[in-house]
Amino acid sequence: FPAEAGLYTASDQIILLTPENVDAVLFNSTAALVVEFYASWCGHCVAFSPIWKSLARNIKEWKPAIDLAAIDCADEQGTTVCTRFGITGYPSLKFFHAYSKKESKGEDLRGFSRDVRGLRHLIIDKLHTHEETWPPACPPLETASETEIDHFFETNNVQHLALVFETDDSYVGREVTLDLLQYENIAVRRVLNTEEGLVSKLGVKDFPSCYLYYSAGNFSRLHVQSEARAFYTYALQRLPGVVRSGKPRQTITDLIKNTTREQWRLFNSSRVYMSDLESALHYSLRVEVASHPVISGERLTALKRYMSVLAKYFPGRPVVRGLLKTLDIWLQSQHGSEIKYSAFRDILDRTVENTDAVLPDVLRWVGCQGSQPHLRGYPCSVWTLFHVLTVQAKNTASSDPREVLQAMRSYVRSFFGCRECAAHFEGMAAESMHSVNTLSNAVLWLWSRHNRVNNRLAGALSEDPLFPKIQWPSPDQCPRCHGVRGKGEHSWNDEEVLAFLRSYFSSEHILYDYLE
Ligand code: FAD
Repeated sequence: FPAEAGLYTASDQIILLTPENVDAVLFNSTAALVVEFYASWCGHCVAFSPIWKSLARNIKEWKPAIDLAAIDCADEQGTTVCTRFGITGYPSLKFFHAYSKKESKGEDLRGFSRDVRGLRHLIIDKLHTHEETWPPACPPLETASETEIDHFFETNNVQHLALVFETDDSYVGREVTLDLLQYENIAVRRVLNTEEGLVSKLGVKDFPSCYLYYSAGNFSRLHVQSEARAFYTYALQRLPGVVRSGKPRQTITDLIKNTTREQWRLFNSSRVYMSDLESALHYSLRVEVASHPVISGERLTALKRYMSVLAKYFPGRPVVRGLLKTLDIWLQSQHGSEIKYSAFRDILDRTVENTDAVLPDVLRWVGCQGSQPHLRGYPCSVWTLFHVLTVQAKNTASSDPREVLQAMRSYVRSFFGCRECAAHFEGMAAESMHSVNTLSNAVLWLWSRHNRVNNRLAGALSEDPLFPKIQWPSPDQCPRCHGVRGKGEHSWNDEEVLAFLRSYFSSEHILYDYLE
């Protein structure tokens, strides 16, 4: 698959079609597909592309049942594909059923909505049009009857059955069903308000509302902040025993009992730990930067920017702050075209009164511990470090609101060992970092881009099953950060998010001790 084409890149989670892959993607696929045929020069297509990307993020969990693709008809190669599918105007959308035959031209979705919600509903309507060849990963989307629910546990081996009670015109139940399709030990069914037996048995008064129903016939209402898709999905994904398919069902207790690995440090998962921040400094300055014995050009500028924001804003122990300041003063006074890492290292490793190095020469993860040695750790601490720095950055007459973000961008580009991560981050930075014009925007920009990465990585191999990637902070962590817009769409309350981040990453909130 190409990494980039026209208006989209591979990290948009949209399949980029080419003459070579088009048949393999569209025909005989186990998932249905919606394809956008566009021309990169067309203004409407440029205007539609953020909506298409946003839809891809919004229905990412539905992928095994329905996937999105795009092709640039203005591209010489793309033209042949677009002609073959009879495309004459842009943007055009076509729906391909699962297991479409090779000669299929797809179904034109004329007059499609230009907003994510409308497109989602259109997709659900189209999923319903499958007849014999229902996409195998797609759970039933029809309404459930009382009889079906009565016999549900005879044929389904799940712990939880979530019933979304709603009116006929509501899509919430089906959206939540699809949001949970990659999760085990839970099934979701929609029940209409007209299903009188069930409605009165459970005493349902609100539509929509969600109930958990168990094999013994007992039930309880799912308590959420708002009766809306995002809140049901957040809550159901977190029920005990519910895990993403294929991920091990491990608990912290299992980990603590497991004596073969380094001792697990108990920690409060809603706090930042200094040990993670110092470990991030240790790894970046003694390992990542060290892999360049001579540092020059763009890399030298990146290191200077990084040290400058660390010296100004790192909220650590006084001795560590003193060290960072010394390193920064030394570095900024180097006016040659290159420096030797060994000279930088000599200062970094300085000791005070023959004790240990000021900056501990160890990795001691606490809040960033992973359930396996290869999970979390350093990348977790890099995010945490830069969130802390964006929050600590102070306004001065000469300050640049993008100072910390630019330091992060150039550090990641020049030194961050995960090159794929660096490329993705650079893509996001190039797209929108220039629009950040206040320190508050900088804090929010990093938060929202981190959430984009979380969205893309949810379910990936690098996801720790004990610390699933979520759109952060969850409604439990910050109820006021979450809200709903007019028709039940989830929305972030940016002011509340900012207040939450400013407190969460503040120096006063950082813990120096973990629970032994
Ligand atoms: P992390 O995502 O590392 O988050 C660390 C902590 O930050 C969380 O535990 C939580 O407390 C908090 N947090 C979570 N979300 C937010 C948010 N939105 N705002 C503020 N705080 C938050 N891995 C890849 O496989 N592919 C990539 O392309 C990729 N790109 C990356 C780019 C950068 C710049 C960095 C630093 C890392 C990247 N990674 C990538 C690694 C990946 O993002 C995670 O860091 C890693 O998988 C560890 O995940 P984690 O569960 O510890 O949580």
